[in-house]
Amino acid sequence: MSMSTPWQRTAEGAGLLSADGRVRASIFAEMSALAQATGAINLGQGFPDEDGPEEVLSAARSAISGGMNQYPPGIGLPVLREAIAEHQARFYGLEVDADHETLVTAGATEALAACILSLVEEGDEVVTLEPFYDAYGGLIALAGGNHRTVPLRLPHFQPNHDELRAAVTDRTRLILINNPHNPTGTVLPQETLELIVELAHEHDALIVTDEVYEHLTFGQQHIPIATLPGAWERTLTISSGGKTFNTTGWKIGWVTGPARLLTQVLAVKQFLTYVNGAPFQPAIAVGLGLPDAFFTGIAADLRTKRDVLSAGLANAGFEVFESQASYFVVADAAPLGYTDAAQLCRELPELAGVVAVPISAFCHDDLGAEYASLVRFAFCKRVEVLELAAAQLGDLRR
Ligand SMILES: *Cc1c(COP(=O)(O)O)cnc(C)c1O
Repeated sequence: MSMSTPWQRTAEGAGLLSADGRVRASIFAEMSALAQATGAINLGQGFPDEDGPEEVLSAARSAISGGMNQYPPGIGLPVLREAIAEHQARFYGLEVDADHETLVTAGATEALAACILSLVEEGDEVVTLEPFYDAYGGLIALAGGNHRTVPLRLPHFQPNHDELRAAVTDRTRLILINNPHNPTGTVLPQETLELIVELAHEHDALIVTDEVYEHLTFGQQHIPIATLPGAWERTLTISSGGKTFNTTGWKIGWVTGPARLLTQVLAVKQFLTYVNGAPFQPAIAVGLGLPDAFFTGIAADLRTKRDVLSAGLANAGFEVFESQASYFVVADAAPLGYTDAAQLCRELPELAGVVAVPISAFCHDDLGAEYASLVRFAFCKRVEVLELAAAQLGDLRR
């Protein structure tokens, strides 16, 4: 690698450097600006347009009124770490020590940053699925790592096991997975998770798993990879309150895993934000302790929204790939005559008053022509908004 500063590597890794070395806006910034400028319905960025549970919101208000407004402990408030440990036991049967095996972070994003920066050395390989959440590329580059990807194959966006085996080698330091998966809404089956654990053992790699959509699955039970035999000791599991409790602006995330690894992650985390969100931490603790009906309720609600948007997209002439989880559904614009999704997304506000993001924004270069016409739509919006978007997209065909 040529001499470069961390920001140059990161901008390059995230595909933000233009040929003349200047930083371009990411497609997400470009699309959000477009939504703002045109007043189009924003199905681009994944944030809900409704508030989460009142118990959680009022717990944050009380914490502020109650004076919880100074630096919390570096590893997070005990009440939240205990709630995280209880949550792992209640939903997954995982025994997690609240004091040594949980770490509170500024969202899943800081958790990812601290895990990658602390565990990846210059030249190490990090294997991810592709398409991948955009931060992964930037953070791997920031750490000086080499990013290798395993394509998710159409139509179900599953990795081919031979391609997975070929990607993981003795040079692999981390296997970074995202399950359930953004942007495709896919869920990795147990056999694939088992293979990942097997490969991690074979090549002495660590596993970092981003499970921020753990409660937003549509029918399947989420399987944390850390629950599989032989996984715990080499796995760091990341989640966040943002997606589960409609509080994406609060940035309360966490990592669970063996104390030996978490200590390394903390060593970096302390110099990133140090701490964040004191009054939001006890509020997310309340959220994690809500009854089962809350968790089944949010998944059922989101499933209805998925169905409304998916039907609308199919009706508009897109080929829709069934989303099994997350906030997102992928649709192919090729049947409508649009083979370049990036171009379509630039025109979509004008054509249909809707903003969406091309799947190419989550890919390195060319995953191939079959991905070029794919668009990601967010359905974490009110049903009437989704119905309006679907109706407007219905005009595309004419
Ligand atoms: C939203 C999202 C994140 C970021 O979570 P924060 O808690 O907001 O930092 C991380 N990973 C994936 C896959 C996401 O979709």
